[in-house]
Amino acid sequence: MRSGFAKKRVYFFGNAKAEGSGKMKDILGGKGAGLSEMTNLGIPVPPGFIISTEVCTLYNQLGKKFTDEIIKEVEKNLHSLEEAVGKKFGDKDDPLLVSIRSGARVSMPGMMDTVLNVGLNDASVEGLGKKTNNMRFAYDSYRRFISMYSNVVLEIPYEQFEDILEQKKRSLGVRFDTDLSENDLKDLAELYKETVQSIKGASFPLNPMDQLWEGIKAVFNSWYGQRAATYRRINKIPDGWGTAVNVVSMVFGNMGDNSATGVVFTRNPATGEGTLYGEFLPNAQGEDVVAGIRTPRPIVRQQNTDGIGMTLEEKMPHVFEELQKVAKTLESRNKDMQDIEFTIERNTLWILQTRSGKRTASSAIKIAVDMVSEGLISKEDAIMRVSPEQLNQILHPVIDPNAEKTLIAKGLPASPGAVSGSIVLSANDAVKMAKEGHKVILVRIETSPEDIHGMHVAEGVLTSRGGMTSHAAVVARGMGRCCVVGCSQIKISYERKTIEAYDTALVFKEGDVITLDGTTGEVFKGVVPTIDAAMNEDFATFMKWVDEVRRLRVMVNADTPDDCKIAMRFGAEGVGLCRTEHMFFAPGRINAVREMILAKDKEGRRRPLNKIKPMQKADFIGIFKEMGGLPVVIRLLDPPLHEFLPKTSEDVESLAKTTGVDVDVVRYQSDKMHEFNPMLGHRGCRLGITMPEIYEMQTEAIIEAACELKKTQGKNVNPEIMVPLVGSIEELTFVKVCIDKVAKDVMERQSTSVNYKVGTMIELPRACLIADDIAKEAEFFSFGTNDLTQMTFGFSRDDVGIFLAMYLEKKILKADPFQTIDIPGVGRLIEMAVIRGKQARPDIKVGICGEHGGDPSSVHFCHSVGLDYVSCSPFRVPIAKLAAAQAVLEEKSTA
Ligand code: PEP
Ligand code: MG
Repeated sequence: MRSGFAKKRVYFFGNAKAEGSGKMKDILGGKGAGLSEMTNLGIPVPPGFIISTEVCTLYNQLGKKFTDEIIKEVEKNLHSLEEAVGKKFGDKDDPLLVSIRSGARVSMPGMMDTVLNVGLNDASVEGLGKKTNNMRFAYDSYRRFISMYSNVVLEIPYEQFEDILEQKKRSLGVRFDTDLSENDLKDLAELYKETVQSIKGASFPLNPMDQLWEGIKAVFNSWYGQRAATYRRINKIPDGWGTAVNVVSMVFGNMGDNSATGVVFTRNPATGEGTLYGEFLPNAQGEDVVAGIRTPRPIVRQQNTDGIGMTLEEKMPHVFEELQKVAKTLESRNKDMQDIEFTIERNTLWILQTRSGKRTASSAIKIAVDMVSEGLISKEDAIMRVSPEQLNQILHPVIDPNAEKTLIAKGLPASPGAVSGSIVLSANDAVKMAKEGHKVILVRIETSPEDIHGMHVAEGVLTSRGGMTSHAAVVARGMGRCCVVGCSQIKISYERKTIEAYDTALVFKEGDVITLDGTTGEVFKGVVPTIDAAMNEDFATFMKWVDEVRRLRVMVNADTPDDCKIAMRFGAEGVGLCRTEHMFFAPGRINAVREMILAKDKEGRRRPLNKIKPMQKADFIGIFKEMGGLPVVIRLLDPPLHEFLPKTSEDVESLAKTTGVDVDVVRYQSDKMHEFNPMLGHRGCRLGITMPEIYEMQTEAIIEAACELKKTQGKNVNPEIMVPLVGSIEELTFVKVCIDKVAKDVMERQSTSVNYKVGTMIELPRACLIADDIAKEAEFFSFGTNDLTQMTFGFSRDDVGIFLAMYLEKKILKADPFQTIDIPGVGRLIEMAVIRGKQARPDIKVGICGEHGGDPSSVHFCHSVGLDYVSCSPFRVPIAKLAAAQAVLEEKSTA
């Protein structure tokens, strides 16, 4: 098949010159762009070529085939590569070997495939051995190639080859791969090929060109594979981007003790400290460090790295010095912390990849703040460097230093936080138990991309193998999961479903509870109490810059004085939603509420309402005090009343006893209140219209609380009373008349006055349509996007879970609309309501208080339609603030 026009699809780099550049990430992928950039900078990069991301899409559209033009272009580049290296691909005496590696626009660590040593076969392995004078190395490369190719291209489980390797070592009584001789490795290569033959019924492919094309296809296919698709969904990466394929001439870290492979970060990815940080493995190849198969050594000596062998700095000081220089160049060039993969071949340094390093939130903030003071980036750049979702990590709790605890073991502190949960030993079990409502800790010998769904639902991840750059560490850090890796003091048995701690002789079964401290790497028995994270000086500096930039005000959804206290610590600028019904559920109150609901008439309701009022008033006083004069929006009672009624017959009996009402009457009254669609039923302002005394009591409590604070403490409180679920102007007018009358009476009784506002929630599509009318009565609008989403889609908030996953999987929905605002539908209604509301009342205050108020992409939307504020849960306040600041900066950059 022909593409119809000749377009450049393959880009060469080598001999200090690249056809692509660092700016071409969309076409070359992050890795390809980085390799091109480094080549142009004169950094030692082995030559190669990049097949662009566009080819990935085209290949898929053509039913997993390549056009003739692409085939020719790849062949032409292969010739150029042969010339650059001075070796021929497939040559039996001195073969050019290549790696085939994926590389999307944004890094997706471990999600896609790689094949190394492509081009080796029974003949060229001998040539390679002779040419390098190192037959052991040649066969080591060959057995690695067969297992990797067979796994990635022929889809034979990697364990098949691992088992053979382990058996071999056992039979020889040796511990490490590096103890195997040339003959052992040669045997292994044969055994591996026999395994392929027996599983596939065909021999291992020995033709280098077939190996090349099948390897390229496998990498493209891995973009469309399940694990990459899951990663894209979680990280909101479009499927249409595709991956590039990098074909690069091999350099060898497994040529003996003067060779090595490793990964280095230009700053510490866990703490942000400004010193090189990384790991290397002597006499090893390619993915060994990343895969966490052997425990690597540190590049420079750190606090807890004694006894781990020589560091790179000590072992190869000259190479280390060069690496340091390259790291500096790449960091100042890219103006960001870099994650650099390197190989040392017989004391010569080669750089295989550079990319912005994944980091914990606290290190992201430290690095951003440090880089501003180093003059490397601006404050605005710093704000854009930290993702709002990432802030979650800083806001996580840490272990209480005074808590009693039993240490089980200690590993590497890969990702911060302190979490407790039940041990689960497989990703699938983690998902199952999490669905049942358990908090789980996923414990694995090491993780692989197959475990990503388990890591996603787990509170934390613990592995017994691997280093700080292993799969578990990198992925958990990116997800913001607490994680401890390389905890070699524990022995995990998948068969017996136990973990055993060598040093402490403790044994735990699946289901037992442990606590992880991701900041120290410690693992404790049982639940250890935690305390809230201390937000340090860098965080405060960073948030100050955020506050200087953003336009949206960030309020909090808080129902109690305690919530408000937490919210103030996170920098809330007022309460955007106080759901008064939450106060009704407290013990000592619920019975009075039930009594009120079950009463036959207005008079019957008054008595329990009089019991509730002082309690509500005390809450409001507490909230007003905590918020120190900041606006507080209090919503009048909203939920369907059946939510308060007893569910079990024991509860019915106990209610009958406390109220003195006959059990049958209680049961009859509760049954009478049954609604088929309570969410569309007797709730919101409908309650205030049919039972005005409820809203009267609440208004009295609010205004009395405000008057009392003013009189006794001279505090000015300006409550904002919010009416829920308004769908017509008549409803709002009715309720507002009642509020104003009660407020006036209270102020007269108290001989004082307070400024209060009356506004409404906008939660119904009809309210959006008549927003101009509503604005004539309402002094503010707050979009209740939970209900507005429910009412716009017609998806029940309580039942959507039944089909939502399927809708997401089948791409009927791009995202859960209850998490992220559905811009074309719900968003358009909001936009229209804002315009209409402002037409009728130009100074109307507009905000949002649904769950979307703390969702970064929804916050961007709220900024763009001119809302005045967002309101969200306390822990999400800094997240919303950062998203709001980023919205301003993005708007500026596209203006
Ligand atoms: C909403 O509907 O968005 C809202 C904030 O109210 P609730 O979730 O209490 O219905
Ligand atoms: Mg609502």
